[in-house]
Amino acid sequence: MISKKMENMVKNGSAIRAMFEEGKKMADKYGAENVYDFSLGNPSVEPPKEITEAIETVIKEYSPNYIHGYMLNPGYEEVRKKIADSINLRFGTGFTAKNIVMTVGAAGGMNVIMKSLLNPEDEVIVFSPYFGEYRSYTSNFDAKLVEISPDTATFQPKLDEFEAKITDRTRIVIVNSPNNPTGVVYSEDTIKKIAAILEKKQKEFGTSIYLLSDEPYRELAFDGVEVPYLTKYYNNTIVGYSFSKSLSLPGDRIGYLVIPDEADDSANIISAAGVATRILGFVNAPSLAQLVVSKCLDAKVDVEIYNRNRELLYNALLEYGYDCVKPEGAFYLFVKAFEADDKAFVAKAKEHRLLIVPGSTFGCAGYVRIAYCVDYNMIQRALPAFKALAEEYGAKK
Ligand code: PLP
Repeated sequence: MISKKMENMVKNGSAIRAMFEEGKKMADKYGAENVYDFSLGNPSVEPPKEITEAIETVIKEYSPNYIHGYMLNPGYEEVRKKIADSINLRFGTGFTAKNIVMTVGAAGGMNVIMKSLLNPEDEVIVFSPYFGEYRSYTSNFDAKLVEISPDTATFQPKLDEFEAKITDRTRIVIVNSPNNPTGVVYSEDTIKKIAAILEKKQKEFGTSIYLLSDEPYRELAFDGVEVPYLTKYYNNTIVGYSFSKSLSLPGDRIGYLVIPDEADDSANIISAAGVATRILGFVNAPSLAQLVVSKCLDAKVDVEIYNRNRELLYNALLEYGYDCVKPEGAFYLFVKAFEADDKAFVAKAKEHRLLIVPGSTFGCAGYVRIAYCVDYNMIQRALPAFKALAEEYGAKK
């Protein structure tokens, strides 16, 4: 018998993963070129060539025992120092190796920081729509997820509701910009307003409220849009970064947390994050991946490939009568479904061999997410199916 909690998790398994698996089955049945799978945020752009070169260099440069052995739980000191230096250079911050904890991707980092900060019944605020896994991570530590309803006109955070929902149990507020699933980027003005609200509420309740910036998409921003670095606006910010999308390395499971000295109880949180890394069973982030990314901190994936996909799909969907806020980053479009029941709409899309994910997975019913981190040619082939789907609902431009 599995645990009650896991029973629920298994029953309500990830809609994204389910759709991805469905896509594999459909590809076997209809042929891969006749199925249009926009379900998973799996980067289609290859990792930069620096990654392969760094793997070769690392293997030549270091002793096998250094590369493959146990290490301190937060990761190699030299890697953490290089990361701190790189952030300081880019954003004018003052971090050192001790502020960096290497993690098993963003997912590992978020679990580590939640393990470090949350008591049962503590509250974690998220802005809808949000990455659905936040529900599972929060539940891992018996905390409560508090949703701020979406502003569907802009998908920017609703600040009045945010302020009203902060309580003396609020421990973490998650911000994810560029956002999955909307692609929206929060402006500096928005970040300043969030910071001001948090400062006010911390004073009112005499608590520490941590702003957790979940940043797998930081480097994927278009049209020169700036993604503010949040530690500069609010002392109690913790950054969760990942190389999964920025260097197309999701399988390597590598990222890091930044825990600034300015954060309340910083030294204890840093210690707790090291222990959490160990006792959650990660022990440390993958060793080879740590050394490799430390040599590739200035490398970039070709974001222009995603930009080209975005332009093609966004413009075509608008022409067919779909309604969508133009994303400024990440690689998703969040589109209004042509009926209120997003799951029924996703099922209809499947009849056109289009695999997309219901917005309710992200806490925003009536919408669907289309991941365009796919081959450009597949988008071209899929356009008639998107058009036919819109026509079935009698959509007008
Ligand atoms: N946070 C967001 C918003 C994501 O979209 C993802 C992955 O898609 C993650 C976290 C997890 O990223 P990682 O693969 O680095 O654990």
